[in-house]
Amino acid sequence: MDEFELVARYFDHPQAERNQVTLGIGDDGAVLAHMPGTESVIVTDTLVCGTHFHKEHSAASIGHRALAVNLSDIAAMGASAEWATLNLTLPSFDESWIEQFAASLLALARRYDVALVGGDTTRGPLSVTMTVGGRVNTGAALRRNGAQPGDSIYVSGLLGGAAAALERDDVHSEDALLDALWYPQPRLALGVALVGLAHSAIDISDGLLSDLGHVLHASANLGADIDAARIPLYPQAERDLGHRRALELALGGGDDYELCFTVPTARRGSVSVLEEELALPLTCIGEVTPSGACHVRHNGRILTELVPGYRHTWSG
Ligand code: ADP
Ligand code: MG
Repeated sequence: MDEFELVARYFDHPQAERNQVTLGIGDDGAVLAHMPGTESVIVTDTLVCGTHFHKEHSAASIGHRALAVNLSDIAAMGASAEWATLNLTLPSFDESWIEQFAASLLALARRYDVALVGGDTTRGPLSVTMTVGGRVNTGAALRRNGAQPGDSIYVSGLLGGAAAALERDDVHSEDALLDALWYPQPRLALGVALVGLAHSAIDISDGLLSDLGHVLHASANLGADIDAARIPLYPQAERDLGHRRALELALGGGDDYELCFTVPTARRGSVSVLEEELALPLTCIGEVTPSGACHVRHNGRILTELVPGYRHTWSG
């Protein structure tokens, strides 16, 4: 099978027909219509075998993850996703691997109405690069630099599940922690709803404290006061690894792909309404301070040993 047959068979499927996709897969380039009053948001991410995943990981999980991590960045910008490109480097044309990879990736694309409009297929060590385009109204994109002293700091979902799944060495066939690691759910509906509500937003890919640190640094070097007791943990991570380790991984583990955002205190009621509407936990974990330091408090004490920057071994 050559590149053309492979693309025709597995990737050029009827997909979300977005109005602005004039021309998709098959020509030298894709053609997208311009939409006045809006701006494009472009994100890209690469997954390399041996660094971001290993050979034994399922093709379906890699296909899902390659698109999901990009959609998570689109969500953090407050944009809706529209199109994607896929650059696939394969050591061999293993049909069943490609079939499962493509089916999983395209299922996620359909769920969020994203059109796969092109890509490239080459031979070499396994790696997957995706680029995703989204759209916001002009000037509406959520940024890292808008946090203000007194803002409430929120996170979506539960944290530390992916890192906990990596840390356990006993084999689990299926559970919530493995789902968190291999099938992260991009928070696109939340991102769009935060436009006009949140002062700042970021997606948590490197760990809560590290990513919140980026927001604080970008927002005129502000600080934060975080209450460790309010961090939403996976019950299963607490069971498998103990409360203390589950908390450490939620603060610093990474690969969560939840959103962290700051909201003026007066708008906290709107976040509660959103939590109901989306059926997604939105937890206030602390507040932005003018101090310049990020403190995590536990029973009134500052946990100094839980410093930002803890990275598990293969988060990229
Ligand atoms: P070119 O030689 O002009 O770069 P290619 O032969 O690489 O074109 O690709 C032919 C068409 O198939 C193009 O529209 C390209 O975007 C698309 N394509 C190639 N590989 C992929 C892929 N992995 N996923 C989606 N589309 C792809
Ligand atoms: Mg090509």
